[in-house]
Amino acid sequence: MSLIINAFYTNKEIFLRELISNASDALDKIQFQAAQDPSKLEAEPNLCIKVTPDKDAGSVTVEDTGIGMTREEMINHLGTIAKSGTKAFMEAVSSGADMSMIGQFGVGFYSSYLVSEKVRVVSKSNDDEQYIWESTAGGTFLVWKDTTFEHGVLKRGTKVICYLKDDQAEFLESDRLKELIMKHSAFVGFPIDLRMEHRQEEEIEVKEEAEAPEKRRKVTVSYSWELINKNKPLWLRPAEGVTHEEYAELYKFLSADWEDHLAVKHVMQSGQVDFKALLFCPRSAPKDMFDMGKMSQRFSIRLYVRRVFIKEFNDLIPKWMGFVKGIVDSDDMPLNISREMLQQNAILKHIKTGLQKNIFSMFQELSQDRERFKSFQEAFSQCLKLGVYEDHANREQIIPLLRYHSSKSGEDMVGLDEYISRMKPGQRHILYITGRTKRDAARSPYIEGLKRDGFEVLYMTDPVDEYAVQFLKEYRGYEVLSCMSMDAARLLDHRSESDLKAELEPLRRRVAEMLAATPSLSVPVALASGIPADCCARFGTSDQGQILELNFKHS
Ligand code: ADP
Ligand code: MG
Repeated sequence: MSLIINAFYTNKEIFLRELISNASDALDKIQFQAAQDPSKLEAEPNLCIKVTPDKDAGSVTVEDTGIGMTREEMINHLGTIAKSGTKAFMEAVSSGADMSMIGQFGVGFYSSYLVSEKVRVVSKSNDDEQYIWESTAGGTFLVWKDTTFEHGVLKRGTKVICYLKDDQAEFLESDRLKELIMKHSAFVGFPIDLRMEHRQEEEIEVKEEAEAPEKRRKVTVSYSWELINKNKPLWLRPAEGVTHEEYAELYKFLSADWEDHLAVKHVMQSGQVDFKALLFCPRSAPKDMFDMGKMSQRFSIRLYVRRVFIKEFNDLIPKWMGFVKGIVDSDDMPLNISREMLQQNAILKHIKTGLQKNIFSMFQELSQDRERFKSFQEAFSQCLKLGVYEDHANREQIIPLLRYHSSKSGEDMVGLDEYISRMKPGQRHILYITGRTKRDAARSPYIEGLKRDGFEVLYMTDPVDEYAVQFLKEYRGYEVLSCMSMDAARLLDHRSESDLKAELEPLRRRVAEMLAATPSLSVPVALASGIPADCCARFGTSDQGQILELNFKHS
């Protein structure tokens, strides 16, 4: 916290986004509970968020009527400075990461200390009395039962009161707060009301007896509530009317990413099952993408039923697709479906299929744009290859998306379709070479002759290529062939079989004579006995010791 409180950092405004996102999470949670048991809402049926600047107290308050926290939860969720995310976040920041990534590390609440010298959290859960948590970020905090109700009696929910540092007075201005809520939180699914301050100054004349009239200023302050997020949730609006910025804000909210998305697919599916979805492809991969432990914790898709948040899924789409983030909203499922039942649900199975189809079509559209698809490949090619390896059902759809460097692609990359389109006339194979690096692959002796002969060779330099290529035996009727195989070496013979035979006949005869004279003759001896030195021969003999074939290879 002291790192945060003392941070020299200009983008401090993100604290509001983090607090509103926590408020929205808390409202999601109580709404979910209420779907099973409506009595959970009894204490406070109205679900909303209120933001209140208070110039007299020098504070800004974010209040929600969400699930609230018990004393225990305040201690565990707000007080535990040693949360694992804190360390990870501090490390990331000291190696240059942007402070606005804080939400990704599960320590978003601490961003309130970017602007506050003290934070007080008043909370009331259905399961406990009203408690107050307070900390001035000195490494300690206090929790006590609220008996004075200085900040009012909460029916249910949480009030986070940020006592602003002296130089953060801008966040006391309701116009500034309005701008920030519209910028970062416009898509939140619950109403956000902001207390607006209206100041009226007028000059009034005060008539003093017997003296000249004196002018004085009179200031009247009045307040009103303004609903800031008036728009419908983005995914319910027709795609034509939604701007890139609006998508980007929602994407950042879902993913806690700090960059905009690379691609988005806005799905309005009707038919057997109706659902709406927004699917996003990020720009870059998380550093720990293949960390198996994290992989199972990372969520991809949020499911809503009739605008009510139900659950985050990491298995609604295949594992290798897990980098895609999105939401899906269905009117067809019952709200009070239990989490166990959810897995079996037939509607959900339809949704799964629909999501996968649309994710493929998003990738497909991306592949039309060379530049964007290149950055997609840089970030996620390993995921695609993992898909080829483990996702049998979708393999056919993944393969056309693969891209490789090749002997002809230069800095670019080439896909199998493009490879086939520029094959040599009569070429029947898709050729590849493996190597540790692109440079290694390019210098492999196995491809020299093939390159010289005008064949294009794909460079497979990713460790995962070795696994993926096992499932890449053939594509569109063309055999996929390693240049290290004998079959590839054979491609270099351009002469027809009969020409070749005629040409080699004298040599064959001579070797046959030698073999007849010395049955144990080995190849090196044959070479020493006058076979042209730039040819390397492989002899095959039948049981009777007769030469059956001669294979020549330029060395
Ligand atoms: P994250 O939101 O990623 O879990 P935060 O640091 O933002 O991390 O919040 C930590 C935790 O504190 C939350 O997971 C939640 O349990 C609790 N919390 C924060 N704000 C609220 C709130 N307004 N209502 C209820 N619980 C909250
Ligand atoms: Mg949070």
